[in-house]
Amino acid sequence: MKKILFVTSEAHPLIKTGGLADVSGSLPKALAELSQDVRILLPNYQALKIQGQPKLISTLKVDNCQVEILETLLPDSSIPVWLVDYPEFFDLPGNPYNDAQGQAWPNNAQRFALFCRIAVEIAMNRAQLDWQPDIVHCNDWQTGLVPALLSLEKNRPASVFTIHNMAYQGIFPAADVISLNLPGQLWNPDGLEFYDMLSFIKGGIVYADHISTVSPTYALEIQTPEFGCGLEGLLSHRKAALSGIINGIDLEQWNPASDPYLDHHYQSKTLADKQANKTALQQQLGLPVDSNVPLLGLISRLVAQKGIDLILECLPELLEMPIQLVFLGAGDSAFEQQLQTQADLHPEKIALSLGYDERLAHLIEAGADIFLMPSRFEPCGLNQMYSQRYGTIPIVRKTGGLADTVTDSLPHSIADKTASGISFNEAGAGSLLEAIKRCLLLYNQPSTWKKIQTNAMRKDFSWRQSAEKYLQLYTSIQSENKPHESA
Ligand code: ADP
Repeated sequence: MKKILFVTSEAHPLIKTGGLADVSGSLPKALAELSQDVRILLPNYQALKIQGQPKLISTLKVDNCQVEILETLLPDSSIPVWLVDYPEFFDLPGNPYNDAQGQAWPNNAQRFALFCRIAVEIAMNRAQLDWQPDIVHCNDWQTGLVPALLSLEKNRPASVFTIHNMAYQGIFPAADVISLNLPGQLWNPDGLEFYDMLSFIKGGIVYADHISTVSPTYALEIQTPEFGCGLEGLLSHRKAALSGIINGIDLEQWNPASDPYLDHHYQSKTLADKQANKTALQQQLGLPVDSNVPLLGLISRLVAQKGIDLILECLPELLEMPIQLVFLGAGDSAFEQQLQTQADLHPEKIALSLGYDERLAHLIEAGADIFLMPSRFEPCGLNQMYSQRYGTIPIVRKTGGLADTVTDSLPHSIADKTASGISFNEAGAGSLLEAIKRCLLLYNQPSTWKKIQTNAMRKDFSWRQSAEKYLQLYTSIQSENKPHESA
């Protein structure tokens, strides 16, 4: 059994702004089910949804701050969540990173540096908790100083740093190095310095024993200028210690056989029952009810990353085809307006729902035949996995987690029963259109289509499988752990 300190700035269902929270809420549970001793470390934000009163378990002073550590449990689990309680930094309205007006907290560097220092004190068993982890698993820039500070310690635990999104790096003015009282030996271009600025994410990438991302393909992509956000050189330098592990999905929440949002349940053996969801979707959104017309769905943040512009570019030709389109999303107002205009012009072909709607998202996954996800980049992506579990064939761009979870339907993959979707390479409207045409050809071959649906529905996207890979990773870095020279 390993002792794992999981350091994160958000964890579902306590607090969530994005996919990091889903991973932090699911992976520790899956590791615990593999009999590991996991504790989550989280700031004690005002917005946390905690059940009951957390218990005070320690008080410590770091960097002139008197900090309390409180303990609660991750809901529906027996996993301890240790909360870093420092009201001046965390007991505030707003979300973990921004104030109630959506502005980044001006003292984010101070807030997360303190959080990191507490993580190091716990990791070194100096927090009177009588517990020292074997592994410190850090996530995204908010935790980047943990591997950096740990690298200066003797007899330290091994560290893993997971990148969930390269686009957020925690870059602050160089002067913060002084105000944060950071050890001078960390301040150099091979350390925390990034073009004369302080980079939290570099703390993780430079000093962690292992770096991971949320899919194997994204781990390769971020070593290139197109995806590396300026850190491709460093990532490529550390490639021997860089790998990707795909996220799992919540198999209870996303289960077509028992989904509480659906009136009509089905599984791979009763695929014909999926049809009733298509009818319900068409009725609900005011599209002509037609069981034969291929229905293409999209659920997405409406931003450039997701390739919404590619879909808009294809629309004139798509509208010539015998298909229906259902879009659910919110985001950039220019995309919202363009989609709205098209939906108003073609109400018999396009149904658009602007906003966030969990129930409709489940009905689209169940009722659509085909799911569109032409992302420009995708660290992992969830919807393509939900789609496959629902027998809704995804059309994806072959990037990041999409490349790792969708097997293109070609003669050989259809023959060996691995085909589970359609993928295309170029981030261009022409390639997307070709992929859609290829998909429609298969749709019109019902027995092949059914085989692809069945392949997709039988795939294992469980967190258990991902947790097993993390466990193997922890074991390998523990045995290879060659700590950085202590200063
Ligand atoms: P990202 O995290 O980049 O937005 P993912 O595919 O990893 O993309 O996850 C998106 C999640 O948010 C999925 O669970 C998806 O169903 C959900 N989602 C996105 N937009 C909406 C929306 N408008 N309504 C309901 N759910 C949405």
